[in-house]
Amino acid sequence: MVLLHICCGPCVIYPAKFFNLKGIKWKGYFYNPNIHPYREFRQRIRALETIAELKGFEVVWEKGYGLRLFLKEVRFEENKPRRCERCYLLRLRQTVKKALELKADAFTTTMLYSIYQDHELIRQICEDLSFKYKVEFFYHDFREGYKQGQEEAKSLDIYRQGYCGCIFSEEERYYKKRRKELLRAGIRV
Ligand code: SF4
Repeated sequence: MVLLHICCGPCVIYPAKFFNLKGIKWKGYFYNPNIHPYREFRQRIRALETIAELKGFEVVWEKGYGLRLFLKEVRFEENKPRRCERCYLLRLRQTVKKALELKADAFTTTMLYSIYQDHELIRQICEDLSFKYKVEFFYHDFREGYKQGQEEAKSLDIYRQGYCGCIFSEEERYYKKRRKELLRAGIRV
């Protein structure tokens, strides 16, 4: 069995299809202390619950809200790529530990599906963790199905988030853009 770390509902659609078509047994694992604020966290859980029910797959849930753990882990590192590196490591290390606990044959992550994440860094972290904890890493470049997965999420009317997850990414997505607009309009912010 492959333990598939799932970051959100839309991102699991293509990897789930891939595993099912290949006849590979797998199980989802939701562990994302990087998603803020709380109502957004709940919304993403609901989106994944809907997909899991529709597609009929199992998810091992960690539904505790991890804001403080995340901030401690990223040590208030606001800047990419260091912040993201710590964030990836936090989630993937826990995934490997869960894989050991569940006696999974391998682990992987839906973060390898996103065209917005640092694919090579995620791959490297997974390989390092695999070596350290002696759990096989199942690598596949799920980005090949990005468009397909997003289109299906849209057709199923699944909630698709507007930012990566953490409070910093929410600021980068909305506040920085708005700030630029205001500055362009001559409004001091
Ligand atoms: S931008 Fe995304 S990957 Fe980077 S720290 Fe925030 S939640 Fe994690």
